[in-house]
Formats: sequence, C-alpha cells, structure tokens
Amino acid sequence: MFQSIYVRKSQGKQFIADPRQANPPGFRGKPVIDVVPCMLDCRRCVDVCPSEAIALNPVQIDLGRCVLCGDCELVCPSQKLSFSPDFRLASTSRDALTVSTARPNIDPIKVSAELHKRFGRSLKLRSVSAGGCNGCEMEINALGNVNFDLGRYGIDIVASPRHADALVLSGPISQNMAGALQMCWDAMPEPKILIAAGACAISGGVFAHSEALDRSFLNNVAPALYVPGCPVHPLTFITGILDLLGIPS
Ligand code: SF4
Ligand code: SF4
Repeated sequence: MFQSIYVRKSQGKQFIADPRQANPPGFRGKPVIDVVPCMLDCRRCVDVCPSEAIALNPVQIDLGRCVLCGDCELVCPSQKLSFSPDFRLASTSRDALTVSTARPNIDPIKVSAELHKRFGRSLKLRSVSAGGCNGCEMEINALGNVNFDLGRYGIDIVASPRHADALVLSGPISQNMAGALQMCWDAMPEPKILIAAGACAISGGVFAHSEALDRSFLNNVAPALYVPGCPVHPLTFITGILDLLGIPS
C-alpha cells in the first residue's frame, strides 16, 4: 500500500488543469502569413502542399485541408509562412477555417445557447472512423486519458449510437463506411450534432480526390463543429467543444 501511495505522490497531478491555458512545446498550430511579398512567379508552397490547402494571390491556407506538415514553411524563400503554437483551431463555420494576411485569425466560436442548455452538463459522443488512418482515432481515444480527462466536463465517448448526442466523424468517408455512418446517425436520438474531426473528415484531406470516397452524407448533415488537424489534437478538440457548449475551464 505504501508503495502505491509513494507512486501516486511521485507522479503528482497528471491532468492538464486548464486545457485553454495549455502551452504544449513545439506545437505546430495556426498558420501565420506575413505581409512580406512573395517572390515573382513563386509557387513552391502550392507545389509542395500535399492537400491543396494553399491558394495564392493573396496567399491563404485552408485549415480544413491543411495537414500541418510544415513543408510550405520550409520551402518558402520569402519566409512568408510560419506556424504559431496556437492550438485553438476549431470553428463552427467551414469558411472561417481559411486564414490569410487580411484574415489572420479563425473566428472565435460563438457559444450556442441552445447547445449549452441541452448539452452543457452532459454530452455523449459516438466516434465513427469512416476510412481514417487511425491517427485521428487514436487522438480521440486520448481524450479520456489522465492528461486530457474530457470526462471531468461530463463529456464521454459511448459505445452505442442510441446513447449518443454527438457523432464524432473521422476519416474521409470511404464508400465502404458511408452506409455504416448513415446507419449510426439514423440510430442516434434527436437532438444530435455532428463534429467533423480532422482534415479528412472536413475536406477529404490528402484523400480528397480518391474515387473510393462517398461523402454524400455531408450533403444532408452539416457539422456543428469543425476540428482541424492531421491528426486532430486533443487540446484542439477539447477547447473547441468547451467553447461550443459554453463550458468554463
Ligand atoms: S502545412 Fe498545411 S498548407 Fe503547408 S504544405 Fe503542409 S498541408 Fe500544405
Ligand atoms: S486527418 Fe490525418 S490523421 Fe486523421 S484520419 Fe485523416 S490522414 Fe489520418
């Protein structure tokens, strides 16, 4: 018993006390696009980007597509592109995920009074991997570990869609998973929301042009929250959902 107490004491508190105030070293987060001009006819960033996330004239990065690989920063001869450690990337609007010099920040999430009233004290999540690589799925799984401890906010992942309030979609939605995704959504009771987690779920990511995808589900169901990343980071997910539901840290 004394050994167990010693181990607990030596480990200290492992949970992140306030995820909104976390400062993970080396985090590659929100892109920063400097005002310096591009070199004439340069399009190295566009050419190197694996997910067609960059547009030119003016330079802008779509975080719904960006996999945060950092390659554009490395190849840019003008040092126009860099990445801040800001992990608060989630948004309720797909359009708000595009950053540029003129629009350097992602719009802050507006607290939904309706969602706060319904789910502010309890939100059950059903995770569906629709052709994901298991990167986002591992990070979603980490939401419940001792570091992130999402359960302290009354937010848990459940095994059955019948018990779920929100479907957390990861992966680009392969044809093989399209039917299962629709069945899961149909099995969830109202009211319910969709959370798109990761570049694949938001835009198809690096698989956007694959013929093996069937993203028609998203023609009928609009995500209430978009959480960029590849994979999505637990801090990005937690701060996004806390902001959406108006839950204090
Ligand atoms: S960091 Fe994002 S925008 Fe830059 S090359 Fe990688 S995927 Fe493209
Ligand atoms: S967004 Fe990246 S980590 Fe997540 S499923 Fe797609 S490829 Fe994997």
